[in-house]
Amino acid sequence: MNKIARNPATTLREPAQLIAHGLAPAASLSDLEQVAARYAVAVTPDIAALIDVEDPDDPIARQFIPSAEELSSQPGEDADPIGDHAHSPVDGIVHRYPDRVLFKLVHVCAVYCRFCFRREMVGPGKATALEPAAYHAALDYIRSHREIWEVILTGGDPLMLSPRRLAEIMADLAAIDHVKIIRLHTRVPIADPARVSAEMVAALKVAGATTWVALHANHARELSDKARAACAALIDAGIPMVSQSVLLRGVNDDAVTLESLMRAFVECRIKPYYLHHGDLAPGTAHLRTTLAHGQELMRALRGRVSGLCQPDYVLDIPGGYGKAPVGPNYLSQANSFSRADSVPEKGEPVSESRYRVVDYCGDVHLYPPKS
Ligand code: SF4
Repeated sequence: MNKIARNPATTLREPAQLIAHGLAPAASLSDLEQVAARYAVAVTPDIAALIDVEDPDDPIARQFIPSAEELSSQPGEDADPIGDHAHSPVDGIVHRYPDRVLFKLVHVCAVYCRFCFRREMVGPGKATALEPAAYHAALDYIRSHREIWEVILTGGDPLMLSPRRLAEIMADLAAIDHVKIIRLHTRVPIADPARVSAEMVAALKVAGATTWVALHANHARELSDKARAACAALIDAGIPMVSQSVLLRGVNDDAVTLESLMRAFVECRIKPYYLHHGDLAPGTAHLRTTLAHGQELMRALRGRVSGLCQPDYVLDIPGGYGKAPVGPNYLSQANSFSRADSVPEKGEPVSESRYRVVDYCGDVHLYPPKS
């Protein structure tokens, strides 16, 4: 399946290197240099090894190999599409929901995804990590907000930090009484599985807080044997994993591909968590599909795989208003709203008005059924 002949020994960061390894056509050099001048490029050897260079529509290449289409922005696209800045009280922290914060420690990733919603904030040339003073100010912010139950380490990719530094950060966070959950969002187990060493796994386990890892993958082929082993090392150490994926045109926007991806996660003991609708990041229109298509795919998925394999299809509302579930609705009212629809008082008999509910085949039923 994999026709790559010139496997790179190191991460490819320049368009000329991509061309030399058969990952982009020579004629694209000037366009790709323009793209690379604006957005970071990195393709690790592990990712390059997944790409079929003879397939012009390869779904892995589409995620990581830059394209001239990134040079055109569409109306509505925004450098900060989900409004991180509007909710950033101190450097490195995004506090959008009361009980959790994002903690952005690093601005580098093992690979750079062509659809990244933080593409204007990550990559070489951006600050690589929070300065010590900013790190301590961010910790003080978390410490002084007792409502923060969960800290989500994101970025950039937190697994780009050394195990030693990660262990310090995990210990600092776990020492805060009200922080019970530390969740790390990462693509490293796929892009550079060797980084998930025994030291890295040990660094993520910490007394005083529970660690979760969210793996970002968009196609079942990303879950290579090495990636599966890296995830198994985390899970065997007692670290539960969830998935996050982005719905991407030409990568996973058909029911069969989505089904294989969700099955692959569950086979790896990773619970499918989020399927994100593509954010309005600049130069990413060619990778987005429509909400209507996303709902159709979620309906198809419901008919094909068990609840264990179902992610939540979500849209990050532009402007920083948070995530909204945007999956298909299976319930509609069959008659007008009445007192019977309200929450019953204690001791009150339950009485429903009638609803229409759609089953996984698309057939409509009444609830309660007509007696
Ligand atoms: S790994 Fe995450 S933060 Fe980094 S480029 Fe990909 S989507 Fe963006």
